[in-house]
Parts: sequence; structure tokens; C-alpha cells
Amino acid sequence: MTLKPCPECGTQISATAIACPQCGHQIQVYAWPFGYQDEQTRAANQRVIFVVGLVLMFVMLGLMYFVVVSQPARTLPSPAPAAPVAPPAA
Ligand SMILES: [Zn+2]
Repeated sequence: MTLKPCPECGTQISATAIACPQCGHQIQVYAWPFGYQDEQTRAANQRVIFVVGLVLMFVMLGLMYFVVVSQPARTLPSPAPAAPVAPPAA
């Protein structure tokens, strides 16, 4: 079992520990969909998610722009005729 010092109190704890058994410092946090991760890994993954999200956003904007620009003559469907008003019952 690999040991590493707790960043908070310095106690040697398991490298796979989620929290320090001595001081309770949380070593790893659950970050969906990656499972438990230490802070360093989590920060790296957050950067990856941010970049991927940014790229996806630009792709979406590009697609929307393409759709709007490639169909300039598309007319809006005419509004449905108003429903006939039923005469009041005598
Ligand atoms: Zn500790």
C-alpha cells in the first residue's frame, strides 16, 4: 500500500484515501463522471471540460450561423386562421 503525507497535517495516509483519518482533511472529492479524484486531477479535468465546452459552444454557434445564412429565403409559416367563434346558444 502506497503512503503519502496528508497535505493538512502531514500524517502518512493511504494514497487512495478519500479523506485523512487523522484530521479529516478531504483528499479526494467525487467529481462526476470521473469518480473520486484528488484536487490536482480534478483541476486538470475541469480545464479539459472547460476547453471542450468552449469548442462545443463555438461549433454550435457555427452551425446556427450556417443554418441561418444558408436559408435566407425561408419564409415563416403563415399563422393559422383564427378559429370560428361559435354563435352563442339561444
Ligand atoms: Zn490529515
